[in-house]
Amino acid sequence: MGKGRKAKDKESSCNDDNKLYLEEAVLEKKLPDIDLRILVEMPNGIDFNEWLASHTISIFDNTNLIYGTVSEFCTISGCPDMVGPSYRTYLWFDEKGKKSRVAAPLYIDYVMTFVQKTINDETIFPTKYANEFPVGLEIVVKKILRLLFHVIAHLYHSHFRELVLLNLHTHLNCVFAHLSVFNHRYQLIEQRETEILQDLVVALKILGDDEETATEVNESIDEYKDVINKEPTMSFADQPINMFPNPSPINTQTLATQIDNF
Ligand SMILES: [Zn+2]
Repeated sequence: MGKGRKAKDKESSCNDDNKLYLEEAVLEKKLPDIDLRILVEMPNGIDFNEWLASHTISIFDNTNLIYGTVSEFCTISGCPDMVGPSYRTYLWFDEKGKKSRVAAPLYIDYVMTFVQKTINDETIFPTKYANEFPVGLEIVVKKILRLLFHVIAHLYHSHFRELVLLNLHTHLNCVFAHLSVFNHRYQLIEQRETEILQDLVVALKILGDDEETATEVNESIDEYKDVINKEPTMSFADQPINMFPNPSPINTQTLATQIDNF
């Protein structure tokens, strides 16, 4: 316990890039028989903005739920940086536009607060009959999905063992598959963001054997490059609308002990 325990946590959370999530035994999705590529094809008569909004909200809800199951293990001491696979570090902009490193639980709290607030905004995600989607909805959706991708990347990199112990890794794989096929179909997240989990896209056969190569994704991205470049992104950091630091509570020794032995 104490110092030794913390050191071990830090090591296993942040410096270990073993990619447990690529192990054969955990490469399964919830709902394995469903081809998600069919589910993201927009039916005739559906408004594109409505389609974007409904999938975005679904991906947010599921990501938020999954993170909530392991948030007690995502601590400031265990996850002092917001990192993903291949040592990708995500930075955050404060309210004055200053780029800064923040601990993963803080970064994710900013993300979830921002997305929840945005989805609840009737002028951006209207729910009442007479209200229209704003012209810039796609830009907002792109930002939300990029931030949620960061959260998913952190879950894979730093908390996959806990998720396996809780038997929730198939759910994470399913949400990741949903986000990946949706992004592949509508080109909403830049390739430089998604490339760190491209190996998992291939391992899980998310896009099917026929079109599942990084090369094809690259070509596809190139095709949409002009559209993607319209988005005002700034490296891997993001401008929060509201920042209410509220780090997750720390503890629960029982499962933590199991995880140490995993
Ligand atoms: Zn964490």
